[in-house]
Amino acid sequence: MSDVFADLVGQDDAVDTLRRAAASAAAVFHAAHLPPPAATGGPEHDALDDHADADADADADADADADVVGGTAAPDATVVDPAAGMTHAWIFTGPPGSGRSVAARAFAAALQCVHGTGCGVCPGCHTTLTGTHADVRLVAPEGLSIGVGEMRALVLRAASTPSGGRWQVVIIEDADRLTEAAGNALLKAVEEPPPRTVFLLCAPSTHPEDVSVTIRSRCRVVPLRQPSAVAVAEVLVRRDGIAPDVAQWAAAAAQGHVGRARRLARDPEARQRRDAVLAVPRRLTGVGTALDAASALIEAAEAEAAASVAESDAAERAALQTALGAGGTGRGAAGATRGSAGQLKDLEKRQKSRATRAQRDALDRALVDLAGFYRDALTSAWRAPVAPVHTDTAPLAEAGGQKWAPEGSLRRLEAVLECRAAIEANVKPRIAVEAMMLSLWRG
Ligand SMILES: [Zn+2]
Repeated sequence: MSDVFADLVGQDDAVDTLRRAAASAAAVFHAAHLPPPAATGGPEHDALDDHADADADADADADADADVVGGTAAPDATVVDPAAGMTHAWIFTGPPGSGRSVAARAFAAALQCVHGTGCGVCPGCHTTLTGTHADVRLVAPEGLSIGVGEMRALVLRAASTPSGGRWQVVIIEDADRLTEAAGNALLKAVEEPPPRTVFLLCAPSTHPEDVSVTIRSRCRVVPLRQPSAVAVAEVLVRRDGIAPDVAQWAAAAAQGHVGRARRLARDPEARQRRDAVLAVPRRLTGVGTALDAASALIEAAEAEAAASVAESDAAERAALQTALGAGGTGRGAAGATRGSAGQLKDLEKRQKSRATRAQRDALDRALVDLAGFYRDALTSAWRAPVAPVHTDTAPLAEAGGQKWAPEGSLRRLEAVLECRAAIEANVKPRIAVEAMMLSLWRG
């Protein structure tokens, strides 16, 4: 069945949870907006505006459900399945590429679906998935963090009554990048949620460093796991029309990162950059080559980042120029142009900080590739019965594993992981990468 959850790869448990919650949300909605929908699921917008009393009932239902999550409330007769109940705040956790934001968007679509199921074809589903639904807002950090100003403005707008849909949905990608002040602004909204507002947060984990304990305690958690290579390959073949052998290779090489697997399968330059990263271990013959390799790795990450943001930068610029009335003939066009220089400048600033973040992400992916190589060396040295991450460099990894012995492979793997941790802790990337390359060379 192809619906809004179809692209959530290898996440059967999470999809099951979200389907049941969406059904429960639809039940809450219909309990408040009688009569129940016709079997054909015709438009129900009229019901929303004219039933202030019914809205109050819906609030009570939703609150009861939120309490069920906390384990204190009795089952509510108007809710189909109280244990699967709808609640106002959710956190999607999982490793990068596991589909946190895909899951959040799919759930948002299911909440706005006129059939309450996430059919994937009705206007509610369609506009949510294409990012044009009036009651679904997406916050993604433009720089390395989400600031308090942005969050306050968002919370304020989210408190309004849904204009056409069933819920106001706020999706916060990378909620781990909220500043402390922004987190506090969000906490206030999550503690006393507006009746028809749903917050969907995405974060790597529920560790206090990612999401504050107080926000966590108000949310229902949907854990996503790293999808298997088989599941990723299957979706590349089915959805993107990629040849099965290429899909299998890319899925394994991307280590469960769906977007990266697709890029590797489709973009020859992405493959070249990966090849350059995996060539590092055999290039390390001395201090000079180690430092050269560090430069090459950082430059490759910069190139990868530039490629990843170039398209969206151009699209945003074009959209803003259109919005500012370039080519417009309406009465507002002339007035709009006056403020346009400032808005373009703001956009450039946001794009620049996004580029910084993209560089970090690209460098991290390169380090994950490199860690995969040493992991392959280690597992082959141990003769562990597991498939290699990088099938194409498996012979090289095996040769390394024999030369270094398990201890040497493990030390190198640790050097790569320490480099990731150091960059995460704000050590300057070049310094961390140079230190790692020297460790990899010394062994
Ligand atoms: Zn739908």
